[in-house]
Amino acid sequence: MDPLALAPHVAIFPFPAQGHVNSMLKLAQLLSLSNFHITFLVTVDTHERLLKNTDVLSRFGSGFQLQALPHGISMDNVNTRDGISMLYHSLSVIAKPFLKEFIVNSPVTCIIADGILSMADDAAEEINLPIIYFRTISACSFWSYFCIPELIQAGELPLKENAMDFTLTKVKGMEDFLRGRDLPSFCRSRDLTSPDMRILMFETQQTPRARGLILNTFEDLEGPILSQIRTVCPNVYTIGAVHAHLKTRLPKSTSSNSLWQEDESCMSWLDTQPPKSVIYVSFGSIAGLTREELLEFWYGMVNSEQKFLWVMKPDLIIGQERKDEIPAELEQGTKARGYMTDWVPQEKVLAHTAIGGFLTHSGWNSTLESIVEGVPMICWPRFADQQVNSRFVGEVWKMGLEIKDTCDRDIIAKSIRDLMEKRKGEFSQRMEHMASLAKRAVNEGGSSYINLNRLIQDIRSMTPPLKQT
Ligand code: UDP
Repeated sequence: MDPLALAPHVAIFPFPAQGHVNSMLKLAQLLSLSNFHITFLVTVDTHERLLKNTDVLSRFGSGFQLQALPHGISMDNVNTRDGISMLYHSLSVIAKPFLKEFIVNSPVTCIIADGILSMADDAAEEINLPIIYFRTISACSFWSYFCIPELIQAGELPLKENAMDFTLTKVKGMEDFLRGRDLPSFCRSRDLTSPDMRILMFETQQTPRARGLILNTFEDLEGPILSQIRTVCPNVYTIGAVHAHLKTRLPKSTSSNSLWQEDESCMSWLDTQPPKSVIYVSFGSIAGLTREELLEFWYGMVNSEQKFLWVMKPDLIIGQERKDEIPAELEQGTKARGYMTDWVPQEKVLAHTAIGGFLTHSGWNSTLESIVEGVPMICWPRFADQQVNSRFVGEVWKMGLEIKDTCDRDIIAKSIRDLMEKRKGEFSQRMEHMASLAKRAVNEGGSSYINLNRLIQDIRSMTPPLKQT
């Protein structure tokens, strides 16, 4: 008998940004290896980009369906003032009814929804369909989001004037080191009723409604915070790092889930560089820089006299053409020691022997990819969960340096020199240790390996609800 005939059918519904799509697609592939049917629901933009820039259809077998949601949902304006509320409005009026109809008409066993799309739970509840959330951020940032109501109740939020460096007392497990400036960026607003804040707080508080919570992390990295989370969500599946997990279970996989065309030529440039001599620089898929910030970073990099590989997405500079009047010394410094490109195969870049450091915006995927490859970081967080990740990298895990809330060429140059030269030994020792724990977690017998098997068994034991007539 065809094994797919009896296989569970999981509908996976990610938030439509690169980092979310990437890790949830990796989970989809991991589940496919157990012969699950998967329907992966994405916006029209993401659908087109995945088909254009990846081999997503040929990589999965016949049990995989990439399903576009109806038109009208887009990430295009997400960086604007009302961007997030506009996006949520369109998700609610377009994606939610579509999902509802889809699950009513298909024999779906369960939904795995992004943990910030609780509208999926509303749809699932009506037909009593099990739902599991996948929150694609770190456990530490999830927990700090979850504790926001307590911070408000204790009067620690909104942050008092000049209190950015005060340690907060109401995020359990972080009382010794979490400052105002380390909270998710939305908490900086004096107005706690801002739409972004309301949406993120609401979505996070919905998490315990689901049957379980999947996190892209591993026990050795975030154990103490995971214990806190388990007090409110007892069924947590830590299965990360998912990209490393996929490589363990499918060693030949070189799968990319990039929404943009990857420039492979940077790999040939890296091949010509000595080991651990290049700092890789990327601010992820969403964050933008002002022209002033761009110049500070550029001067910092050139003045550090280290080699650098810099991802400069065409839309990185907010409202400006990136090549507008760039000082000649920067052009020359870049020619001598740098390589710039629009978008790279990041996992491969970080795994390259020439890479010795990562100047990052501290997005969670980037952070995990760096940890798995043992690459120390300089953290310059931009928004949302990045502030929390950056604090953990710098202060708790001591895997690099934090330059949060500064943007100064001298600080940047000094941090790069410290990371790549002066404190290199200290950081590499810690990174190597954590990288080996990360690898152990996803190999047979490791915590993430066991948790993924448990997730697979739990889904297998779910029976689809009877079809409504
Ligand atoms: N990425 C990539 N090529 C690049 C820059 C980033 O493939 O040139 C990938 C990176 O590997 C990561 C994702 O984009 O998986 C970014 O996710 P992250 O959570 O770090 O940040 P976000 O883009 O969501 O802010």
